[in-house]
Amino acid sequence: MISKNKKINSFVEYTKSETKKANIKCVLANVKYLVIKEEGYVRCNGYFDEKNMLLKCAINKPITEWLPIFVHEFSHFEQWRGQCETWKKCFFAGEDKTSEIIEWVKGKEVKKGLLKKYYKALKYLELDCEKRTVKNIRKFELPIDLDDYARKANAYVLFHDYIYFYRKWYKVGRVPYDNKNIIATMPNKIVPKGRVATKKQLELYDKFCS
Ligand SMILES: [Zn+2]
Repeated sequence: MISKNKKINSFVEYTKSETKKANIKCVLANVKYLVIKEEGYVRCNGYFDEKNMLLKCAINKPITEWLPIFVHEFSHFEQWRGQCETWKKCFFAGEDKTSEIIEWVKGKEVKKGLLKKYYKALKYLELDCEKRTVKNIRKFELPIDLDDYARKANAYVLFHDYIYFYRKWYKVGRVPYDNKNIIATMPNKIVPKGRVATKKQLELYDKFCS
């Protein structure tokens, strides 16, 4: 059993059985963070990787920290399983817009028009995922504070504007959704599609994440 909480256990069981049906391996790893080899050994807390058919989450930390990430990654799995529009726009014909953006941040040149397309595809993929995550938290009655989650989710979604405008990613240990100053500027409901980070928020990202 992963937790004393029945709702959490049944959500974890549900995720395991749904991913299994789709031939996706679901791994709750007893480590503090995961390392993605393909992306230059970057550290992360969880991921859904459709190429390697894997949903993985680092759980050697308080459940309040890993559970929201696990639900988020499960929601990416649902996007992939349903082949929703935002997923298809991001992973069309073997292309992966995430890697394109990461390469561009590292210095690879990408045509301006294409770059804007990639950035929007990625931002909207995460936005759609956050909306699904909130729905899943409600649906499975998980013990996650929704106002708090929405603020953190917004901090992550709007961070994509920062990546696009500043050509920078966050540094290890400086994730935007963990910074109190940034979270305090975020609304407690998931932002609408047209919302772009304010000047102040962009400055805060630059100060606390890069
Ligand atoms: Zn995501």
